[in-house]
Amino acid sequence: MGLFSSSKGAFRGAKGDLVLDGVRKTFGDFTAVDGIDLTIPRGSFFALLGPSGCGKTTTLRMIAGLEQPTEGRVMIGQTDLTGSRPYERPVNTVFQSYALFPHLSIRDNVAFGPKRRGVSDAAAQADSALELVQMGHLAGRKPAQLSGGQQQRVALARAIVNNPEVLLLDEPLGALDLKLRREMQVELKRIQDDVGLTFVHVTHDQEEAMTMADTVAVMNQGQIEQIGPPEALYDLPKTRFVAGFLGKSNMGKATVVGREGDQVVVEFAGTTATVPAARAPEGADEVWFGIRPEKVRIVTDQSGGHRDDVRVTVVDVSFTGVATEYIVTVPSGRSWTVYEQNMDVDPNPIRPGDTVWLEWDPAHSFAVPRSADDPDPAGDAAELESAVAS
Ligand code: ATP
Repeated sequence: MGLFSSSKGAFRGAKGDLVLDGVRKTFGDFTAVDGIDLTIPRGSFFALLGPSGCGKTTTLRMIAGLEQPTEGRVMIGQTDLTGSRPYERPVNTVFQSYALFPHLSIRDNVAFGPKRRGVSDAAAQADSALELVQMGHLAGRKPAQLSGGQQQRVALARAIVNNPEVLLLDEPLGALDLKLRREMQVELKRIQDDVGLTFVHVTHDQEEAMTMADTVAVMNQGQIEQIGPPEALYDLPKTRFVAGFLGKSNMGKATVVGREGDQVVVEFAGTTATVPAARAPEGADEVWFGIRPEKVRIVTDQSGGHRDDVRVTVVDVSFTGVATEYIVTVPSGRSWTVYEQNMDVDPNPIRPGDTVWLEWDPAHSFAVPRSADDPDPAGDAAELESAVAS
């Protein structure tokens, strides 16, 4: 971008993709990060998403140099940063707590880093960074005179002014209320587009990760379960954990009973369904069948000849404005969810206790591997929800 001069530090000139090569971190006999291999393309907006305790902050801290990996390397381009001190790295972190100096003006807070490095036009650089986050007009104020969202922008400007190669964001919007969070998500994405820096964003909020990131890595128990663009992860989860963590999935404990052309035939909950072979694990016999709640239709009569359906009992109906959410029980006893957009007022609304049929287009179904010791996904969903909420 050339807006801000580069800063001191042994590796400040390092440029390129951020690479984690076999990175592991143990604390005593506990493994917090279990061998991560990752290449984050330069200039991309990358999200590390996972439940509390999965190892995302530890990963971020190893990129920042605040923790040293037990094994593996952290690199930017060809430059190995492993073992170097945080201030030597071309990496800055924005935390949830803004940690602004209360006695300094906003401009001086942002100019603090460049001044300390002896940059001659520190104040001008601070002003440019503040313009970028649309805070130029408040440069003379003190932090206490700003709202939470404004302080977060200043914290961002204070990191950007150092012109790092990589900007780390550790749950940066966690302290903001929901409306402001949504606004800041859009704003963060715009700023990242403008400055073109590599952003690595840690969050347990799947909506936040999907809204902003080009690429999302879903972490679970110190490992990356799946990585890809948000749309791809949502459309085709490869593990039961990802299917349940990124949005909601209806799951059925299924067995593969055959193959018809490019479709895999499965049996679950007393019904037979098909899954495109490309959307099922190759060669697996025991799988979880999956279908997203918005891909399912409720019909009161079985439309006939439609194999991909299941008879269910309605347990709960909630009107949420744009959609109605139905909770139903499938024959195996598992709860499924259906979202139906409220296009018309139904003169004969479906009510709890009704017996109905669910139908879906088999093209939207998917299957993920299942092992004998896999716990029940209904139980897991509750577990995941509590993990997300915590
Ligand atoms: P959260 O969203 O709650 O911040 P996280 O995914 O960022 O969670 P980490 O902070 O990376 O998780 O922690 C991963 C695991 O490593 C946790 O079980 C945590 O208790 C453990 N851990 C982290 N730091 C240390 C430490 N210094 N000593 C011992 N255990 C640690």
